[in-house]
Amino acid sequence: QLPVVAVVGRPNVGKSTLFNRLIGRRRAIVSDEPGVTRDRKEGEALLRGHRVRLIDTAGLEEAAPETLFGRMRASSEQGIAQADLVLFCVDARSGIAPADAHFANWLRRQNRPVLLVANKAEGRAGVQGAYDAYSLGLGTPLAVSAEHGEGMADLMSVIAEHL
Ligand code: GDP
Ligand code: MG
Repeated sequence: QLPVVAVVGRPNVGKSTLFNRLIGRRRAIVSDEPGVTRDRKEGEALLRGHRVRLIDTAGLEEAAPETLFGRMRASSEQGIAQADLVLFCVDARSGIAPADAHFANWLRRQNRPVLLVANKAEGRAGVQGAYDAYSLGLGTPLAVSAEHGEGMADLMSVIAEHL
């Protein structure tokens, strides 16, 4: 039984892009339309010599509750329940949304190890956003750019330390 790593977060923060990076192959469909994840949502990744089962949670589910936080919770609950490690992604460009803070509070109560990933952190605009993620109270944000492949080696090392 491989350790399970679940990628969660608001729609459009880059969860599927990060999933694809970590898997190393094109497994999930990435779209500009928030929350579009129609392809495979699970795959095996080799991270610093550790095999893990990676789960990409969809952003929006059918019969979704009305609030953004409600949708985030509904779409990630199952993945989190089986996760040995949760990667909570935020968008360093758009900044920390109220739903991120609300989700962070809920996540803390799930008693799962969480790594805070500040994605889209490439360039100057991303640095401040990544710093702002400290306010979520989930430790040091790991700044990455899934799209540009920045910070991935460090992220993989930190993930491996938590397995
Ligand atoms: P998801 O809804 O959380 O799965 O997000 P996606 O992976 O579908 O990505 C949403 C959008 O963000 C797409 O247009 C991606 O190309 C873009 N994106 C993903 N990662 C990055 C990144 O590191 N930097 C920037 N600037 N854009 C990104
Ligand atoms: Mg997606």
